[in-house]
Amino acid sequence: MKVTLLGTGTSTGVPVPGCDCPVCRSNDPHNRRTRCSLLIGYRGKNILIDTATDLRQQSLREGIKRIDAVLYTHTHADHIHGIDDLRPFNHRDGIKLPLYASADAVQAMRQNFRYIFSPQDEKLYRPRLVVWTVGGSFSLFGLPVTPLRLVHGSGCSTGYRIGPIAYLTDCSAIPQAARLQLGNLKLLILDALRFRPHSAHLNIAGAIAEAERINAAQTLLTHLSHDVDHDRHAQGLPVGIDFAFDGQTLKIMVD
Ligand SMILES: [Zn+2]
Ligand SMILES: [Zn+2]
Ligand SMILES: [Zn+2]
Repeated sequence: MKVTLLGTGTSTGVPVPGCDCPVCRSNDPHNRRTRCSLLIGYRGKNILIDTATDLRQQSLREGIKRIDAVLYTHTHADHIHGIDDLRPFNHRDGIKLPLYASADAVQAMRQNFRYIFSPQDEKLYRPRLVVWTVGGSFSLFGLPVTPLRLVHGSGCSTGYRIGPIAYLTDCSAIPQAARLQLGNLKLLILDALRFRPHSAHLNIAGAIAEAERINAAQTLLTHLSHDVDHDRHAQGLPVGIDFAFDGQTLKIMVD
């Protein structure tokens, strides 16, 4: 499978508009972060995780030609507000693009995007989507997908184990039930907002501690704020743990 980090930034993106800090003024492309999203290519199919605010820009940058399914982690604006930019990926045959989300996320999406999901507005120019509620494990294009309930501040988010990889963005804690599903990972992509603690996100020290417990072959830290100067701070990370960056791709063998 081919994994592409479409976006690795926190909800504001980096640079932050109006900010003059050294990271926001940096010329290093690794310090330019769009909103968090992941693309998984497998046997000719593309699975997108979240429709980030920057979906259009990410699609153009990576030359994405098709999207076959979308998995949602939760409905915070930075993860969902690119939903209208799924329109170019609707197949011409009229088949609706399947979205997968937890029950509470499905409810929030129907409420926030009534123009997309209401049966009355069938004639509007809107993405043609069908939402499926995820509970337990399921199979998507031959890949086993396990949704994992994560703590995200006072709310919840859904992490996904997909074959040998796991994508856990936006979490402040990983419950034991989820941790039990995270053995023998080839790649873990994990929330690590910034150095200081935050009520809704793992900070970098917390993410390193979780990564060491989970012990994946490789860990990438994502949802990064302008605290993180990619090259400078990467030197302080343990072996096998790195900061993700936009456009990063990895080829992972699926057994
Ligand atoms: Zn977020
Ligand atoms: Zn800044
Ligand atoms: Zn969030």
